[in-house]
Amino acid sequence: MRAWRNEITTIGLLLIIITIIGGVSGHFIPLLFLLMFAIIIHQMIHISRFERWIRTGGRGKYPRGKGIWEEIYYHVYRLRKNEKRRKNKLSAMINQFRQSTEALPDAAIVLGANDEIEWANKAARTVFGLQSSDKGQRIPNLIRFPDFIKYLKAKNYKSSVVLPSPVDNKIILEIRIVPYGVDLRLLIAQDVTQLKKMERMRKDFVANVSHEMRTPLTVLRGYLETLLDMDDKLSPMLTSSFIQMQGQTDRMQHLVDDLLLLTRLETQQRKTQCVDIPALLSQIHSEGISLGSLPERLLLTIETKAHIVGEEQELRSAFTNLVSNAIKYSPENSPINITWRQNKNYITLSITDQGEGISKYDIPRITERFYRVETKRVKKVNGTGLGLAIVKHVLMRHDGYLEIQSELGKGSCFSCHFPSGRICN
Ligand code: ADP
Repeated sequence: MRAWRNEITTIGLLLIIITIIGGVSGHFIPLLFLLMFAIIIHQMIHISRFERWIRTGGRGKYPRGKGIWEEIYYHVYRLRKNEKRRKNKLSAMINQFRQSTEALPDAAIVLGANDEIEWANKAARTVFGLQSSDKGQRIPNLIRFPDFIKYLKAKNYKSSVVLPSPVDNKIILEIRIVPYGVDLRLLIAQDVTQLKKMERMRKDFVANVSHEMRTPLTVLRGYLETLLDMDDKLSPMLTSSFIQMQGQTDRMQHLVDDLLLLTRLETQQRKTQCVDIPALLSQIHSEGISLGSLPERLLLTIETKAHIVGEEQELRSAFTNLVSNAIKYSPENSPINITWRQNKNYITLSITDQGEGISKYDIPRITERFYRVETKRVKKVNGTGLGLAIVKHVLMRHDGYLEIQSELGKGSCFSCHFPSGRICN
């Protein structure tokens, strides 16, 4: 502001001098032109010096100027100095970030819009066997596993894919892609060898224990049946003990059967065929009635005759579990609707009851193994806590998913959604 005032005062003074000299000599107009001309030349010299300084990058100390030019030079110089400081800070941050990602135990690769490698850390170079010359190469040309290529193409970045390392197939990697910025993605690979080994050990252990328990249980059940047949009912205590023992061995049998089924679901290959779901549901419906449910309680509605590709035994287990849960967890006279219907993208089996319902807190947990909701029920309800875990697994193996809608005290609706691509008739 002060510089501008000085500038204007100088021009004002020059004008007064010109007016006085012009008035005395009688050459006011030529003198005025002369003054204008001198001012323009003066400003042009400064503009040219400024342009030369900026053109050469505005480096070093700025040229000396006077008045407003001194101010302009000073402001530009200060801006450049701040910018330089910010740039240094930023590059130090980038360096620090690079060093930390370089030291990460997980492999990280930055992918460009066409899946080309833009940058990879040390762990990525090791587990994927990448060379520095691979920069710019498309990742599907280097990691050629079909599952990985399918994952990359699907662009469903919520999931992950598990693969062996291309350099050592004993190392198991869990690969996940995280999108960020514009068209950039970060591929992260974590070594899950130990985790997979432990998982395998757990599965083997459960499978072996369940398998080994089958024979003693069969023997026990056989003897108990014989004892109950031979029981002359003379001692009520003995009779009640036999009945209790039978109840407990039955429970144990269910548990072992469910555990073995879960292990099979986790480990065995599927043998798929076109399954007639309406016929399967009719069977389950009749079994439900023969198990003691009133015929008017179980209402079966077949809206579509669609069959789906799948494994019949697995689907039977899943649907039976859902129907028997609806029977177990709702009053004896309340209706249960079983509906098979189709919409644009999905084909759905829904089982709706008007039973005790499930709280919001429990809904996300009831598909976990052994999770049972602790409610004060009038009648004790037996169960293993494995039924819904089986349902979830079966649906996953059929590319479907389980939807649970429920309200405490009002009832529940369990829906099994299958993609319509599975329809086979
Ligand atoms: P289980 O029935 O053998 O206990 P599940 O895995 O089938 O095991 O079910 C887990 C829990 O979810 C059950 O213990 C029960 O509390 C709850 N549940 C399942 N189905 C229903 C239903 N239709 N209505 C209310 N609660 C249910």
